[in-house]
Amino acid sequence: SDKQKEDLGMSTADAEAGGEVQITHPERVVFPKQKLRKGDVADYYQRMARWILPEIAGRPLSLLRCPDGVGKACFFQKHHGPGLGDAVHAVPLQQKSGREDYVYIDDTRGLLQLVQMNTLELHPWGATVADPEHPDRLVFDLDPGEGVSWAQVKAGARDVRDRLQQVGLKSFVRLSGGKGVHVVVPLQPKAGWDEAKAFCEAFAQAMALEQPDRYVATMSKAKRGGVIFIDWLRNTRGATSVCSWSLRARDSAGVAVPLRWEELARVSAADAFPMAKALARAKRLKGDPWQGIARLKQTLPRMDL
Ligand code: ATP
Ligand code: MN
Ligand code: MN
Repeated sequence: SDKQKEDLGMSTADAEAGGEVQITHPERVVFPKQKLRKGDVADYYQRMARWILPEIAGRPLSLLRCPDGVGKACFFQKHHGPGLGDAVHAVPLQQKSGREDYVYIDDTRGLLQLVQMNTLELHPWGATVADPEHPDRLVFDLDPGEGVSWAQVKAGARDVRDRLQQVGLKSFVRLSGGKGVHVVVPLQPKAGWDEAKAFCEAFAQAMALEQPDRYVATMSKAKRGGVIFIDWLRNTRGATSVCSWSLRARDSAGVAVPLRWEELARVSAADAFPMAKALARAKRLKGDPWQGIARLKQTLPRMDL
């Protein structure tokens, strides 16, 4: 019974399918600075499931797990293993070393079982389990160097959007919940990873070539201060980006929040939405800030950027 579980220091969260997922040690502190506990994290993901699942269901995932909370050791996990829960599935994917089982979920129950295993951040592939060799999402990850202002980051995101528009691609924006923003391009899964990667690299390099005082397209130059690294390397096979509405395992506890482009102007930082603010935003939302993303039918342009 619930009373017995309380006595054992457990709480339960009703999942839509398959009954409840037991969250052990809900009292355990996960974000010390914000005084948020494992139970708060479980409540958050339960309440946000309807927004998060369309972003991650049926996609290979990297999980950032933090068994001792934020500020202590966290680790990325992409492989399936025992003890993850009955709604956490395995998909065999070909790697250099052979086939390896990757993690994916389909539903709220799976999401909460990941939370039970102390997952804080969810990082999907830009491709689905059903068609892992053909990306259906590209991510341009804008990483501001030292001394780059938030206004410059926002201008950079709009610059990426406008340039994408010029080659016929509509894009969507999200705060990373950390320092930068992600510009996301939905694609019909037609091109392979090599083609997607080549497009993204050429796109980033074109930006860096035209405005070298603002942008760099190589990791080595990214360390140079004052410029934004257009990180196109998220768009390689096996790479991931944090999903919209994921919590971030950082001191500021920002959430990776998707925005309408018009909203970007009013936002003051990439980590402007800690858990409570993200929940409030989700509650207020009338529709998906990325309205129409699932219906867009676009493909990579020819490579003469
Ligand atoms: P920020 O705005 O602070 O840059 P971010 O989420 O974009 O936040 P990055 O460091 O730019 O963080 O990383 C981009 C993405 O690369 C991450 O969201 C994550 O999916 C992936 N990533 C980064 N480091 C690792 C890692 N060690 N293992 C697996 N994936 C990683
Ligand atoms: Mn980034
Ligand atoms: Mn990056």
